[in-house]
Amino acid sequence: MSLAATMPASYNKQSTIGFVMYDDTIAAIATPPGEGGLGIVRLSGPDAWSIVRELFDGALEDRRVVHGWIHDPATGETIDEVMVTPMAGPKTYTRESIVEIGCHGSPLALQLVLKLVLHRGARLANPGEFTLRAFLNGRLDLSRAEAVLDVIQAKTQANLRFALQGMQGRLSESLSRLRQRILTVQAYLTACIDFPEDEVESQIDIDPSTALAEALDELRQLIAVAEAGMIYRHGVRTAIVGKPNVGKSSLLNRLLGEDRAIVAAVPGTTRDTVEEAVQVAGIPFHLIDTAGIRETRDTVEHLGVERSRQAARSADLLLIVVDGSEALSEADVQLLAMADGRGSIVIANKCDLPQEADLSALPASAIRLSALTGDGLGSLHDAMAKAALGGMVIPNDAPVVTDPRQKAALEAAFEQVTTAHQALEQGSPEDFVTIDLASALSALSQITGENASEELLDAIFQRFCIGK
Ligand code: GDP
Repeated sequence: MSLAATMPASYNKQSTIGFVMYDDTIAAIATPPGEGGLGIVRLSGPDAWSIVRELFDGALEDRRVVHGWIHDPATGETIDEVMVTPMAGPKTYTRESIVEIGCHGSPLALQLVLKLVLHRGARLANPGEFTLRAFLNGRLDLSRAEAVLDVIQAKTQANLRFALQGMQGRLSESLSRLRQRILTVQAYLTACIDFPEDEVESQIDIDPSTALAEALDELRQLIAVAEAGMIYRHGVRTAIVGKPNVGKSSLLNRLLGEDRAIVAAVPGTTRDTVEEAVQVAGIPFHLIDTAGIRETRDTVEHLGVERSRQAARSADLLLIVVDGSEALSEADVQLLAMADGRGSIVIANKCDLPQEADLSALPASAIRLSALTGDGLGSLHDAMAKAALGGMVIPNDAPVVTDPRQKAALEAAFEQVTTAHQALEQGSPEDFVTIDLASALSALSQITGENASEELLDAIFQRFCIGK
């Protein structure tokens, strides 16, 4: 079912987010499928408490965990022994009355309990519908609701940290200040249309041009951090290239070996796929396994070069490996020519052996290491992190956008404020400037969710799991 069908008539998408009373009660199993220690059935809505009272033999009291049993009232049959947590609205996740029934983690018991509550009038929740209600009831703005999803889906500690900051409202606070700044400028300019400027100046204490320049600075900073944030979130496609036998496979294994456990936790990466992920300084690097392409010594070396070029096309970062224990060949020189500019790291491997290569032919930043002993790996890690972020460091308390849609909205707002600022500087009529500012505010509301369309909400909340 689409969200449009679940929204109550009282939800008016033209209104700012406020309290919308749903008259139905939703329910879902909130824990993952399969057997487990515990499983939770969650209800939210006006009848949550009364439905549970019909099944549960304990007495419900706000925010008190009660032990008891769930029975089927129709047959008297015992379904499970549970711990029930009732929470009265509006100080709850959804702002509605909520009950969480903590069952044993038995898929059957959970299904039976769910069936009982559905029988008594609850409706099966759509994906993300609890969080959607939290949003529509004004408990979270859209950026915080999306951060909830990011917390659940975080695969690295860095991403978890950014998501938690988002959930705590770091981004919404920053956007709300920005919005306020733009609104004040708008109010000033609108007043100037109707009243003499000196009269307005005495009423509204602001220099519109400075205020917009400050807004631009804030947006610029948010966008810069978002560039880095997206790298932490989506990772860096990294190809290890080089001639046969320079040690590409060994290096790949060495890189993977460091973080085996974490790699295994990333879904979809198995040893026999062409891509594996490794975390370096909190950044996921997706290693494109060109080392898997086997060649013998007899294969003409240019084949290695050609394959490296192919791999390079789909990579953000190149690790160009040469064998330091051998003289550099024509093929090495061709490969090294790919090292132009950002996005590549040259590695002189086999530094544990006597060095025959002319290392002065390599860039000064080249890293000497031994895939065999692990020597020099730390320097490689540092270089990889630096290359990935282009030297950008995310300040500790900065709000971090990691979502492409949110970043695009920031960029649109930046563009509109830039146009407004230029128009203001050039002395354009006030209403020209206020139109651009209105567009900027509208772009920002794509992140915070004021006046969000049903389509946008649908697209966002369907990415959630059922029960969240
Ligand atoms: P690839 O063809 O580029 O993937 O190279 P491999 O990783 O298969 O390595 C080729 C040979 O070089 C193997 O015998 C490795 O054991 C050896 N090798 C790789 N790295 C090192 C290193 O750092 N030191 C030494 N001494 N041998 C290495």
